[in-house]
Amino acid sequence: MTDSYDVAVIGGGIVGLAHAWQAARRKLRVLLLERTLLAQGASVRNFGMIWPIGQPAGELYSLALRSRDLWLELHAQGVVEVEQCGAIHLAHHADEMSVLQEFADRRTHECLLLTPTEVTEKSTLANPEELLGGLLSPTELRVDPRTASSQIAAWLAECHNVACRFETPVIKVDVGRITAADGQNWHADRIIVCSGSDLQTLYPDVLSHSGLQLCKLQMLRTVSQPSAQPGAPHIASGLTLRHYTSFGDCPSLAAVRARIQNDSPELDRYGIHVMASQRPAGDVILGDSHEYGEDITPFDKSEIDDLMLRELQRVIRLKDWTIAERWHGVYAKHPSMPVFETVTDDGVHIVVGTGGAGMTLAFGLADRAWRQWIGDS
Ligand SMILES: Cc1cc2nc3c(=O)[nH]c(=O)nc-3n(C[C@H](O)[C@H](O)[C@H](O)COP(=O)(O)OP(=O)(O)OC[C@H]3O[C@@H](n4cnc5c(N)ncnc54)[C@H](O)[C@@H]3O)c2cc1C
Repeated sequence: MTDSYDVAVIGGGIVGLAHAWQAARRKLRVLLLERTLLAQGASVRNFGMIWPIGQPAGELYSLALRSRDLWLELHAQGVVEVEQCGAIHLAHHADEMSVLQEFADRRTHECLLLTPTEVTEKSTLANPEELLGGLLSPTELRVDPRTASSQIAAWLAECHNVACRFETPVIKVDVGRITAADGQNWHADRIIVCSGSDLQTLYPDVLSHSGLQLCKLQMLRTVSQPSAQPGAPHIASGLTLRHYTSFGDCPSLAAVRARIQNDSPELDRYGIHVMASQRPAGDVILGDSHEYGEDITPFDKSEIDDLMLRELQRVIRLKDWTIAERWHGVYAKHPSMPVFETVTDDGVHIVVGTGGAGMTLAFGLADRAWRQWIGDS
């Protein structure tokens, strides 16, 4: 006999978990199917930064703040550890400081300009040499991406009766019926595919015409530093201003871009902008780079790691730069949409392509989707 559920979610990354949680909140019977033993995709390979400051003013910023509330709710319920650490964007060049000033003047996001002294009082990582100032935003959170997904899945199973099936690759979805590689079948009234960067297994026709592109990021983690600053704010360098759309229409951004294109084109070639997040244990997560489409190979480039470290050493100070771990992650990203959401001809929802903001947006996106589908929880 085929088991039946109200909802089946395919993919146990943060986007799938978010949709499963919001369905369970609405008292629906939920099945979650994940092909690996524990989620191993982008959701466990990231910085663990919940980063509203990177989202443009308007609906996306609101969604990020809604996600933030939901992360804090998980923390309050003892599901995941969440630090309210905030973030500081550093300016080591006059054009970067101008962007920060222009951004703060708009008053669209909660933030505050800091003097160099105020920056170094708030962050022991910030390099005071040639520092012109910073922008503090209090909204950013730190979670541990290596444990968060499995903790949320365990809690959904235990407290919300979500049926979580790991090591269960789904190979076919057809009019309410789901088939796994081992031949098991399930039925669900609503099916949501959250398959992350796998654009080939389920609905390859839809996904290959979607415009989605894969992006590979290289990451580093240092050994524990001799001292850890409790609640250390995440740090973003001036290079990061090029990356997040929230700064996109600050007039001085053109000067930042032009300087980097002219002085260090190698950073643009590999999409490098640098960020650092010191975890409570004292180790620091560092990144990242962005290689797209055919530039992606299975092999990591030491040149990219060296460039990231060169740039990081300009903007942060560490007692010990020994690298404990190196890894890469891949996500799917749409050139113009913050997420690719569609409904197939057979009524299946596909939600993929959250790019570099899935940890920040997933809960807000799922909350919005379920409100539209059946209303408030
Ligand atoms: C290096 C790196 C750093 C990042 N840093 C941040 C950050 O600090 N803050 C932030 O907001 N975002 C960050 N991101 C982006 C964020 O990690 C992603 O947007 C998000 O994790 C995507 O979640 P997902 O659930 O769509 O994908 P995934 O995490 O890849 O999950 C998809 C899951 O679906 C499963 N699956 C796929 N196909 C099937 C199938 N047929 N059957 C069963 N299971 C299937 C996969 O096994 C996988 O576990 C970063 C990403 C990377 C790579």
